[in-house]
Amino acid sequence: MPKWIRGHASGFRIVISAVATVTSVLLAVLPVVSVIKVSAPVTASVVLFAMYLWAELGHSESSVQQAHVKDLQDFAGWAEQVVGLTHGFDFSTPKAKSFRAHFPKLGKEIDDWNGLMRQLPPIDARFVEFTNIEEPMRLGLGANTALPSMLNLVARGFLSLPNQTWQVQSGWIQAINQGTYAVVPLPPDEASTCKLISDVWDSLTTVDEKPAVQEYQAMHRKVEALRATLNDGLRTVQAKHRPEGHCDLCPT
Ligand SMILES: [Zn+2]
Repeated sequence: MPKWIRGHASGFRIVISAVATVTSVLLAVLPVVSVIKVSAPVTASVVLFAMYLWAELGHSESSVQQAHVKDLQDFAGWAEQVVGLTHGFDFSTPKAKSFRAHFPKLGKEIDDWNGLMRQLPPIDARFVEFTNIEEPMRLGLGANTALPSMLNLVARGFLSLPNQTWQVQSGWIQAINQGTYAVVPLPPDEASTCKLISDVWDSLTTVDEKPAVQEYQAMHRKVEALRATLNDGLRTVQAKHRPEGHCDLCPT
């Protein structure tokens, strides 16, 4: 028995017994000779019952359909949140399969997104290894300098070098804009200071050319482009009241 009938079975039973009771009462109280007259209330009852059924079926179908549409919209809302967090997600659940059946283009894009999310961690790790370990080591710097953060922010486009003011204070070479970066400790002599400043400046201004950074930037451009495409598609689904296509969970 389809789900929508199960949900209304008790309602049907009540109406059927009500009609049966009314009919039997009418038959009992009216003389046999009035059978012809009885047919009028019986017909009326049958017509009313048919009207009730028609209304019930129409209502049930539309509410089940509405629930299904809401499931698709909710899935799209959840997917938008996951995409916003730059996470991959499980796309193998029955609701996910239903979503893919209705929106195959978005399904393919979610597969692509999950693919990018699998590639992302080693690329991010490689980038951080370059900015936090390799580059400071190459310049002979310890872990306590601000060079890693500055390289990271410049490579990600969050820090503009021309906007920095440079100064020496408390034994550190500092860069100041909205915040202060204690970039590197001031070396003991002038020659070492000149070389270190030159190396640090060169490191910061050429960071975009380094392979680990280029790979990171290329990957994140792909992520941002796909995020924008997915957000468009997922928001459209959330606004849809008549989704195209069909799936195994569609009400019959
Ligand atoms: Zn469906």
